[in-house]
This record gives sequence, structure tokens and C-alpha cells, in this order.
Amino acid sequence: MRAILEQRSHEIVEDIEEAEAVILDTCGFIEEAKKDSISEIFDFIEHKKHRKFLLFVKGCLVQRYFEDLTREIHEVDGWFGVVPPERIADAVEKGEKKVIYRHPESIYSTSVRFDSGPYAYIKIADGCSHTCSFCAIPAFKGSYRSRRMNFVISEAEQLVRNGVLEIILVAQDTSAYGIDTNEGTLCDLLRKLDSIDGRFWIRVMYLHPDHITPQLIDTMTTCKKVLPYFDIPVQHGSDKILEKMGRQKKSEQILDILQQVRSARPDAVVRTSVIVGFPGESRNDFEILLEFLKEAQFDRLGCFVYSDEEGTPAKSFFPKIPHDTALARQEELMLLQKEISRKRMSRWTGKTIETLVEEQENGYYIARSFMDAPEVDGNVFVQSRDSLIIPGFYHVTITTSLDYDLEGVAL
Ligand code: SF4
Repeated sequence: MRAILEQRSHEIVEDIEEAEAVILDTCGFIEEAKKDSISEIFDFIEHKKHRKFLLFVKGCLVQRYFEDLTREIHEVDGWFGVVPPERIADAVEKGEKKVIYRHPESIYSTSVRFDSGPYAYIKIADGCSHTCSFCAIPAFKGSYRSRRMNFVISEAEQLVRNGVLEIILVAQDTSAYGIDTNEGTLCDLLRKLDSIDGRFWIRVMYLHPDHITPQLIDTMTTCKKVLPYFDIPVQHGSDKILEKMGRQKKSEQILDILQQVRSARPDAVVRTSVIVGFPGESRNDFEILLEFLKEAQFDRLGCFVYSDEEGTPAKSFFPKIPHDTALARQEELMLLQKEISRKRMSRWTGKTIETLVEEQENGYYIARSFMDAPEVDGNVFVQSRDSLIIPGFYHVTITTSLDYDLEGVAL
């Protein structure tokens, strides 16, 4: 969005006091995200009382609640659903008030990027064709649509030219890339990205277990720039709950994928996310989940508490689990994961790993290694006698392992 506006000669300002227009992106995925988005809209409306600017609101929340939002909130100058950013830029320039597509369409075609920070995300597809019973995304994002491979590649080339050191591929399901086109799969895309000149990392997020093949594991563990970081949201470990969630793979099959990943690269890191408190999750199901996690030994894990989402089948599933029970399960699970994580992290002590140094604070350089995706994972706290260039790649010998982080000395 930013690149498209800059390409059209709009100036991007960081300070709202200087802005003539604000484009606010929203998320309508889960209850918490919806509340945050609504509260942001009202914060900007409040701000409009003191200073004149145009307020445009875009994204999933608008796509999902277009009628309600446009009926109830009149202070917003333009509402845009899940539509391509080029279309939003057109609308802003023409002063259009409402743009919504019956079928969500957010695959942008531009490959122009001005980002130059240490890392940048590239969306390789949008929408989802899975039918998880708890998830509203397919209803408001539409079915799976891959971006053209040449757009993704030229976007990556541009980012690397701008000095970006880590490219992070995202989609609702990255492993399904290419399933709807005849341009090649995620393996093909990764091999092409891997051959771009320059020193940079490629990280892939959100691999759906249904599309993880031996070929994909081979590609991700042999391409030099692709990090051996497998982010595989599994959602649960009890087959009964997995089935009610509409997930195809059973717990044994998920464990088999982990086994394949770790045989290909013993140093690979696996991240996952799970949901607790799904309707009908008994204490026994929860204990099955804990046993599954002990066996799986995920290096990284996020745990979410189930919430009913409008328009999803799971909203009509019973019995509901009391929120307090779900919160207590989340706490119990995270205590177990802390133990697992501490043990997994300890295997790095004494080893030397490559890190991406991004900041300096309180006498330490703050870096990430291949096992740390920005914002969701840990850090490596680095000490160095010499001053380090930020951002930059440095080899670090690990001296201490913590619950989720590492400490070390730059070579
Ligand atoms: S795969 Fe992910 S985005 Fe798709 S329906 Fe399931 S939870 Fe939602």
C-alpha cells in the first residue's frame, strides 16, 4: 500500500499531526483483534475533532461488517473492504466513499517496494480453501489465490536491492502456493528466490500440515538462504478435537511430519500454534494435547483461547468450555511449553550460530537467529568488544540459554 502511494507521488509521513489523510488497516479475525480495530477507529475519530484530516478504514473488519460499520459510524471518510491496494489508492484519489467486493480480492499485482529495514514480509497468496470449523477467514477473505510468481520474485529482488536482509513469506497457507495456478509450487518459488544474488535469509510462515510434502521438506532444508524454520500451526493434539475442528491430519500424521523434518535437518526449528477451550474439549482431551506436546517437542509455540466467531460452524458446537477453564488450560499448557522450550534452547549452548543484529540496548546487541521470527519468537542478546553494524549478520557463540532466548558473544 505504502509503495503504491509513494509511486503515485503521495508523501508518507510518520507523524499524524502532519497527515492530510490516514488509512487505517483493520483485522476482523478474532474477537480481540476486532475490539482493537474498533478502538483504533474511535481513537482516530477523536483525533479528528482537534485536527482536520481524511480518515479511511480498510481491511478484513470492513469486509466482514461493512453494513454495520457504515450504518453506525459516520465520521469515517471512506470504507474499503478486502480489495487490492491499487484500487484503494484510486478510491482515495477520486474521493470514493465505499469500495467493497462481493468476492474478496486482495492479491496486489505491484512488485514495487520501498522497504529497507532488516526484514520485510511478502504476501504470496491470500484467502483460504480449508474449512476449519472455528475460522471465519475463508468467509471474508474468499478462497485461496496465489500471487503471480514473477511478481513475488521481482518484489523480493527489489527488497534485496534496498538492503533488506530477511524476506518473510506469508499467506493463510503458504504450503499451498501454486495449487490454483500452473506456475509452479512453493518449492519452485523457494528455489527461484534462493538463486537471487545477495546475502539474505528467506523465512516461510504458516505451512499447513496438509500440504507439507517430502519435496517441500527437502527444498526447505537444502536451499542455502531458506531457513530451517518450520512454522506449522497444528491447532490440537487430540484426534477427537482435530476432527471437530475440521482438520484432516491426525496427531500421528503430524508427528510423522515432525519426524521427517528432524531427520532431514536435526537442527531444524519447529513452531506451532494450538487452541484450547474448543467446544467439547474435555479434561481428557486437554491431557491428550499435553502428552502430544511432550512427544512433539515443539521449539516454539503460541497458545490461543478459543472464542466463538460469527458465521463459523463451531459457534453452534456444544458444550462450550467456560472461559476461566480455558484460561487455566492455557496457563497450564504454557508452563509445560516453558519447560520444553528451556530444554530445547539448552542444546545451543557452546554452539556458534549466525544471527541478524537489529538493535543495541543496555550494553547488548539484540539479534535474532534462524529460530526467531520477528515479533513472535525469542532473541539472541549479543555482547561484542567491537562495534557491530546494525543491521548486519554476525556469528555468535552461545554462552547462556534462557527459557526462550539465548545470550552469546560475537566472534
Ligand atoms: S487453514 Fe487457517 S485460515 Fe484456513 S480455515 Fe483453517 S485456520 Fe482458517
